[in-house]
Amino acid sequence: MLYLVATPIGNLEDISLRAIRVLQEADIIACEDTRHARTLFERHGIRPRRLVSYHSHNERSRAAELAEDLRTGASVALVTDAGTPGISDPAWAIVKEAIGLDIEVVPIPGACAAIAALSGSGMDTTRFAFEGFLPLKKGRRTRLAEIANEERTVVLYESPHRIKRLLEELIGVCGPHREASLAREITKLHEEFVRGPLLDVLTRLDERFPESVKGECVLVLSGRRDRDVADENE
Ligand code: SAM
Repeated sequence: MLYLVATPIGNLEDISLRAIRVLQEADIIACEDTRHARTLFERHGIRPRRLVSYHSHNERSRAAELAEDLRTGASVALVTDAGTPGISDPAWAIVKEAIGLDIEVVPIPGACAAIAALSGSGMDTTRFAFEGFLPLKKGRRTRLAEIANEERTVVLYESPHRIKRLLEELIGVCGPHREASLAREITKLHEEFVRGPLLDVLTRLDERFPESVKGECVLVLSGRRDRDVADENE
């Protein structure tokens, strides 16, 4: 059995009772960052039977090793750095291996930065598109153009030192008035939502962080409306 265990994205209390039990009982816990995971385990009294690392630099080889463990009947619990495994992180390789071997894959739901950002955004959440991280170079312009035309609410992950550049690019393709909500440091001490038209969000970030923005960020962008078309034609 492969368990995909969601872990907190900041506040260590954001973990389910089931997740704690599964982590306690698993034969093997595979985690992206063993030091990071140990902090969580200590907080909840979890004593891993066996802890192995699983990250973007060893995902293929480690996925094959873990697949062998799964095939011989071991239960493996996978935790990524934070949040839900498989959402913009290296979990896919082991999930694919397990499915290929006909091994049961059991998600243990919990925190996810995209969903928390969306839920506090005030945007239309009946339909949304998750864009994750945009490519840094190849294909970036095409993706930005697609986002500008997207009618659904769009959710983007971005690193703090690139978030202002992303806002500038979005202003370039969507215009300054498109509504956005930037969720920063969700569930942490300095959690905040900066909501408003793209240009206002950028201006407020510039005032507060003249250099690089601090903390982890999720940007939620409202979908294209007729008004944006009018703005672009002004
Ligand atoms: N699997 C994770 C999830 O379920 O959200 C996402 C992993 S991805 C590698 C990391 C990105 O998630 C960060 O760059 C940031 O965009 C977002 N993120 C994670 N924790 C966050 C937090 N506490 N506040 C805001 N954004 C966060």
